[in-house]
Amino acid sequence: MLKGIGVSGGYGMGHAVVVKRADLSYVKKEECHPDTEHRRFSEALECFYNRNTELAKSVKDTLGEKESEIITGHVMIMKDPYMLSEINKKIDEGKCAEEALEEVCDSFIDMLSSANDEFTVQRAVDVRDIKTEILSLLTGAEQVDVSNLKEGTVLVAHELTPSMTAGIDRKKVVGIITELGSGTSHAAILARAMEIPAVLGAPDATKEIKSDDIVVADGNSGDVIINPDADKKELYTRKKIEYIERRKALLRFKGMPTRTKDGIKADLFCNIGTADDAETVAKYDGEGIGLFRTEFLFMDRSGVPDENEQFEAYKKVLLVMKEKPVIIRTLDIGGDKDIPYLGLTKEENPFLGFRAVRYCLKHTEIFKTQLKALVRASGYGKLSIMIPLVTGVEELREVRKMVEDIMRELEKQSVPYDKDLKVGVMIETPSAAIIADILAGEADFFSIGTNDLTGYTLAVDRGNANVAYLYSVFAPSVLRTIKNIISEAKRAGIPVGMCGEAAADPMLIPLLISFGLDEFSVSASSVLSTRREISRWDKARADEIANRIMELKTERDVVEALGKIVNDTV
Ligand code: PEP
Ligand code: MG
Repeated sequence: MLKGIGVSGGYGMGHAVVVKRADLSYVKKEECHPDTEHRRFSEALECFYNRNTELAKSVKDTLGEKESEIITGHVMIMKDPYMLSEINKKIDEGKCAEEALEEVCDSFIDMLSSANDEFTVQRAVDVRDIKTEILSLLTGAEQVDVSNLKEGTVLVAHELTPSMTAGIDRKKVVGIITELGSGTSHAAILARAMEIPAVLGAPDATKEIKSDDIVVADGNSGDVIINPDADKKELYTRKKIEYIERRKALLRFKGMPTRTKDGIKADLFCNIGTADDAETVAKYDGEGIGLFRTEFLFMDRSGVPDENEQFEAYKKVLLVMKEKPVIIRTLDIGGDKDIPYLGLTKEENPFLGFRAVRYCLKHTEIFKTQLKALVRASGYGKLSIMIPLVTGVEELREVRKMVEDIMRELEKQSVPYDKDLKVGVMIETPSAAIIADILAGEADFFSIGTNDLTGYTLAVDRGNANVAYLYSVFAPSVLRTIKNIISEAKRAGIPVGMCGEAAADPMLIPLLISFGLDEFSVSASSVLSTRREISRWDKARADEIANRIMELKTERDVVEALGKIVNDTV
């Protein structure tokens, strides 16, 4: 068995087709003729543009706009004037087209992959994919035709570029296994959109698996089973049938209101990272946006987006969501999210450092621009502003004062905005949780950020594998903290939501219902399963469970007891 990362759910069992790595080697000639090399490069480029433009069109029709942007993104990168001029300069110096392309792409890859944020690192992967594709055009390396495979194929490759993935015929390919890639790589995003079970990052897959082996790609656990025996085959056939039935059963919840078994209504919102994600939310039936992580607007570029650019992005989300609520979080940088052009200094303890609202309140020119774009956008829908990493009420007061000043300024200029614009806080630090009563007296709403709250409460760095065993929202300390936050919000009569990952956890949901959480904000793909989980419990049963669980003394006891209750309840 091989182990990789399950990035696209489901079980794909079939005959392996192992795609060998193309031979992209070429001879570095001492002196090349620039005219010939310019011509070769522009022919290859032309072919690359045409092929990907066609592919983007067909992806747009079959999978959607957002997926097709992955392919058009590659075309755009290769139209970058700076990149093209660097390649042409090297050809003028006497290098062959292959070498010129490789050197320039490699320098971009080095620069992009040293960034700390996932977005920029993903651009490095894009440039590597582009390099491979154009090199294979220049060297005439054999292109694997993934559009013409036998039915029931499990595709096994070292790595799949987005254009290869998008070219897959989903009627024929039942599973994907690659040696490289992660859950956020474009191949993973496309595999999910195509609903093909996929395991990426399975080391040595192309060596261990031979073409025509029977293989199983378990896209949930990341397991890869090679030549399963009869029992295993039966097991995976059953799992596959059950999985498909579960997915179908979930569709029943599309278009339904979100409420408990006894009819208590909850809001089911989504977390997004870009303005375009709002369309996915609408597609998955999200009832609003509970968290728009605006820092992604600031990443992957060389300077701060100006007021108008931000205004357009926020307005777009509001227009897509029509009159549904949209909670936009102000810039949350620092910690593990670096933005190189902001020049953040390296810190000993970045998670306890100069980040989020702390940075914004000291860089008021950047913050004011964002707040102004937000207040202007508020005229186009139901927008609320949310402040990250609050530790004291002073931060909320300062932000509110800035928002009020902006409102007065806009008033004078007769620019429309929502006079009822709400300002809320994320509760994700122990300090905010402990003074939840004080904050609830001044904030318009709370949203619990369990990702950070769990880390800070347990003093566990959320990205440190050595202490990952301690990181759990089910630790009694974290559960008590969550309960306290919700009850203080209720006492003050303000709405309280949760936008950390835990909001979609089936084991936490009965407790959240008992505590009285008003709003669950989850990733778009978890909307229907969260709606189903909420509908499984009535308040009396949820209270019974919570009373029992809150008596337990260790995380292990909590997880064991909740696991049993949740699995045994139909
Ligand atoms: C959180 O901390 O729970 C949260 C939602 O914010 P982020 O994951 O962006 O830090
Ligand atoms: Mg956070």
